[in-house]
This record gives sequence, C-alpha cells and structure tokens, in this order.
Amino acid sequence: MSQRVYLLDTTLRDGEQSPGASLNMEEKIQIARQLAKLKVDIIEAGFPISSPGDFEAVRAIAREVKGVAVAGLARTHFEDIDRAWEAVRFAEQARIHTFISTSDIHLEHQLRMTRDQVLEAAVSAVKRARAYTSDVEFSTMDASRSDLDFLCQVLAAAIKAGATVVNIPDTVGYAVPEEWGGFINTICHKVAGIEKVIVSVHCHNDLGLAVANSLAALTNGARQVEGTINGIGERAGNAALEEVVMTLRTRKDQFNHYTNVNTEEIYRTSRLVSTLTGMRVQANKAVVGKNAFAHESGIHQDGILKERTTYEIMNPAMVGLSKSNLVLGKLSGRHAFRQRLEELGYNLPDEELKSAFTRFKKLADKKRDITNDDLEAIIEEEVRQIPHAYTLNYLHISSGTTIVPTATVGLKQNGRLLEEAACGNGPVDAICKAVDKITGLNCTMVNWGVNAITAGKDALGDVTLRITTDGRKVYMGRGISTDILDASAKAYVNAVNKLVWDNRPVEDKKQD
Ligand code: MN
Repeated sequence: MSQRVYLLDTTLRDGEQSPGASLNMEEKIQIARQLAKLKVDIIEAGFPISSPGDFEAVRAIAREVKGVAVAGLARTHFEDIDRAWEAVRFAEQARIHTFISTSDIHLEHQLRMTRDQVLEAAVSAVKRARAYTSDVEFSTMDASRSDLDFLCQVLAAAIKAGATVVNIPDTVGYAVPEEWGGFINTICHKVAGIEKVIVSVHCHNDLGLAVANSLAALTNGARQVEGTINGIGERAGNAALEEVVMTLRTRKDQFNHYTNVNTEEIYRTSRLVSTLTGMRVQANKAVVGKNAFAHESGIHQDGILKERTTYEIMNPAMVGLSKSNLVLGKLSGRHAFRQRLEELGYNLPDEELKSAFTRFKKLADKKRDITNDDLEAIIEEEVRQIPHAYTLNYLHISSGTTIVPTATVGLKQNGRLLEEAACGNGPVDAICKAVDKITGLNCTMVNWGVNAITAGKDALGDVTLRITTDGRKVYMGRGISTDILDASAKAYVNAVNKLVWDNRPVEDKKQD
C-alpha cells in the first residue's frame, strides 16, 4: 500500500535564515496562508525565543492560518520550550520542535557538554514539551556526523520521554544518498520504540544532494520530509519541497509514497516566496525555474508540437503553470484582464483589481505585448503587504557622462507632496539621497540588482534592493518598470515603507 509522506515546510524558519531573506510579519502570514493552500502538513513558522519579532510572527500564524499544523522551534532549554508553546498554543494543531546536537564535534566545540548531559537534556526537554502538547518533534542536530550508536540511544530515550516525531538532520549537507539511506534504515530497525513514531529527515544542499538524500530516506522508512520552497535556507539551502513532491508524483513506479500537496499551487507558492524574500529562482531550477518547461532546440520543439510527452515528463499545468501565454495589449478590456488574472490564480478584491488595471493600461501604453510574466509582476507589486507611508509621485533625473547625476523626487505622504533634490555618485545614488532627505532617514544600500522580467527591448526591469539603518535589520524592496531608474526609485520607497512600518510607534502596533 502506498504510504503517506508528511511535509514539514520550514521556509519561514530555515528559509528565512538565508542571508538577506528577512521577512516582516505580514509577509510571513501571507506565505503561511499560501503554504496552507498548497497543503503542506506542518508549517515551521519560526524560532520564537530568537527574537520578539519571530515570536509574534509564529503566534499570528498559529492563530490565523487554519488547516495545517504549526510548529515552533526550541532548543532544549526550558525557556525556549515555554516560549515556543506560548507562540503556537492557539494553532489548530500545535507542535513543539525541540533539538540538540549529537555529534562529538558539536558537543566538544559548541555545546561543551558530555554525551550523558545531552541525553539528559533531550529527555527533560521532550517531557517538558509533552506536558504542553501531544505533538512533539525531537531533532538530533548534526546527526549525519554523529556516532550512530549514541544517536540511536538518544532517539530511544526521546521516544520513551514522549517524542512523536524524531527528525534526523543532515545539518551540514555532508551525507550522500546510499549511505544516508542505510543510516536511516539502521535507525528505523534498531531504535527501541521507533515503530510508534514518525521518522523525519532534514537535509541540506551543500553538495546538491538534499532532495536525493530525502528520497533515499523515504525508501528506507522515513515518513516526514522537511524542506523549503525553492530550496532556500542556510548556506546552500534545504531540500526543495516542490522537487520532492514532483518526484514522488512523476515516478510513482519507483516510490510507494504520496503527499497531500495540491501540486497546482506549486508555481504560485514559488513566485510568492521569491517575491517576498527577494531570492530569485535560477532559470534552470527544477520544477519552478523559468526554463523548466521551455524548449529551445528545434528538434525538441518539433516533438512537443506533435506530442507534448515526447520531451515533457511533467505537464506544466500540474504545477500550476498556465498554458496559455497569449498576450494582452492596449485594447484588452477589464473583462479580459480579470479573466486572465483568474487563470493565473489571482482573485483580487475590486479595489485592488481597479488599481492593477490602471497599472496594466499605463504599461500597455509603453509596451506593446503584455505577457503573463508582466501581469504577475504587476500584481505582486500591486497587492500591497503593508500600508504605504510614502508613494512615489514623480521622478526627474539628469545624468550623463560629463555631469554630476542629480535627482528630483516627489513623494506623497498622506496626500501631501514632498519634494527634494540631491546629487549622487550615480543616478540611483542620487535618487536614494533625495528620498532620504524627504524621509529624514539615513539608509545604507546593502545591495542592488536588476533582472529583465520579459524579453525584448521594451522588457520590464525588476529591481531588488536591500537597505538598512542600523546595519542589523535589513529591508528588501522591489520595483518594476520599463525604466530601471523608475524601478529603482519604486524599490527604494518600497523598502523604506517596510522600514517605517516595522519601526512604527508601539501604540500603533498594539492596535493591529
Ligand atoms: Mn536546517
């Protein structure tokens, strides 16, 4: 009989640990809602003790997102576990996920604990968590480099103490598939009480093997896979959940496993995560990359036109990619616009639809053919995540090879037009300085990047940048326009709005 595989999505915890991918609370809730639509089984929403912001985000997700279990991460310290429980307690199904390292390298250099102390900490942490909830996951950090006998001993003790899921992480991405499969197999046969719990794996991608290792674990007895959307995460990232899901679905002949995922939500989830984290998906990325279903060679194209399955092992519609990429133009009406958005999966409230349609019309004046990619870019920018303190009203640049670049910027704040001009090292620098003069903030740009969303001379430029005022908290902004300076200004104002929202007075925060 085919076995159900549970998916724990840690995009909001491990994924958010990716350098530069910090999300605000509203963005995390938006992603969590989409993950619930995708039908993952558990959302690991954060590490509540790590910061007040993380705590609030986990609590909000636990309260608001239904139809999915919500987990909070905790070390074995009691205050971690108490805090995790406070954050997840109102979830439909609340899970506490506690972990401790089991490898000698970590014990000696990081924890400075003996094996006996680790064993004791694991047991008391699991017991403490079990007093709060019947859903307790226990992880042995750096399991792949741990002594297998000691690892089995810790797992058995954790199960006896009440753990319901035991997770075996390849924290440093060191394992290779056959070895890892054997490792999991031994655990599944040797550990006392293992048949009563769900065995899970959490694989990192340092050698590009996270998905392969996760699959090897499944064929050897694991029943839960942890991973992230687009494979984001610490260093080289985690196992990409969309790849695990589509492998199980496409190669049913090889795996006796299935997931509950609604695969048609995969593409949309991938886009949302990439938009909000600012971490772009590489074009050749499996399943969700821009080129994953593109056919360039003449022979391939000829085959596809005659019969899709000649060169396609997955139907793009299965992952939610719209087949019709028929273009819209200047003359397309509101009805066609709405219909296309619905095909792409966007059901916007009237007000947002109206403003998106205005954006579409403006764009259609400058660009002849509007593709699905263009539309998605508009919507993702238009569907606002937070109230805008400032909106860009106009931008004037004078720049060239022999003059100092100067920008004049007009921003609207509560209907009031605020204007400033500034010089800079380049036109983008001048824009940012002019904006800073208006807002009174002194922001440093951490990075700036541009990407052409669509092909052609009239392509939309997609600017992503990151700013900080204190060198610690980084805010990502994104702007889209046919003009990259305009896109930069929008992206900068977008990041500033997030910064302002995050630092609003405490009284305002209490109200929401
Ligand atoms: Mn990890």
